Amino acid sequence: MPRFFVDGQPENGVLVLQGEDAHHAGRVLRLRPGEAVTLCDGKGTDYDCTVERLDKDAVICCVHDCHPTDTEPKQRLTLFMALPKGDKMEWIVQKAVELGVSNIVPYLSKNCVSRPDKTDKKVERWRKIAAEAAKQCGRGVLPTVGAVIPVGQAIAQAAQSETALFLYENERQTGLRDALAAGVGKDVSLLVGPEGGFAPEEAEAARQAGLKSVSLGTRILRCETAPVAALAAILFAGGNM
Ligand code: SAM
Repeated sequence: MPRFFVDGQPENGVLVLQGEDAHHAGRVLRLRPGEAVTLCDGKGTDYDCTVERLDKDAVICCVHDCHPTDTEPKQRLTLFMALPKGDKMEWIVQKAVELGVSNIVPYLSKNCVSRPDKTDKKVERWRKIAAEAAKQCGRGVLPTVGAVIPVGQAIAQAAQSETALFLYENERQTGLRDALAAGVGKDVSLLVGPEGGFAPEEAEAARQAGLKSVSLGTRILRCETAPVAALAAILFAGGNM
C-alpha cells in the first residue's frame, strides 16, 4: 500500500498530496482514481484513503477512515550522537530512524574529529535523510533532527529521560542487559560518543547527571555500529521485536 506523509488534517473528508509526493504518486507509482493509499500526518495518525482525482501538481484523496499508526515503538527513543567523521552521520540517521528513533540530537564533544563551524546545511541534509528513511520504513511519526549542541547540553537533556543511558567504552561493570533488566522506560535517551570516545571528564559529567554508563561488551564497536546495536537491544527489551 503506497504511503505518504501529509501536512494538516482532512478538510471535508479530503486530503491533498502535493509537490514531490504528488509527482511520485501520479508519475512514478501511476496511481489512478479509486486506488487505495495511506496518508500519515507524521504525528501518529494514519488515514485510509482512495485517490479521488489527479491534478497537475496535486493528488486529491478521499479519506475513509483514520486510526493511530501501528509502526511506532512502545517507547520514545532519542539518540544523542557525537559528530562522527565524514558522512557516517547520514548512515546513523537512516538506521536510527528505521529502528524507531523519534529524535536525533547531534552534539560536539572534546574528541570529535569533525568540528565544522557551520552545520546548518549538514543538519538540513540529515533531516531530509530522516524523512526519506521514515517514508521507506513506514513510520507514523516524522523523526526530528536537532541542531548541533555542546556535549554538556546533550548530557543535561539526555538526563531528563526516564531511561537515560550512555554507551561508555570503558564501562566494565554494567552491561546494557543489566541496565534494561528492570524494564525500559517510556522515554529513553541514548548518548553515544565519537570515534575518539568520551573524555574522562565527559564520562564523569554524564554519571553525575544521572545517566547510566553501560557496556556493549568487550569489543570496541565503531561509533556508527554502537547506536544501532544498542537501539536494537532496547527495542527487543521494550517488547517491540
Ligand atoms: N576511542 C575509544 C576507544 O578506543 O576506547 C572507542 C570509541 S568507540 C569507536 C565510539 C563510541 O561507541 C563510544 O564512545 C561509545 O559510545 C560506543 N561504544 C563502542 N564500543 C562500545 C562498547 N563496547 N561498550 C559501550 N559503548 C561502546
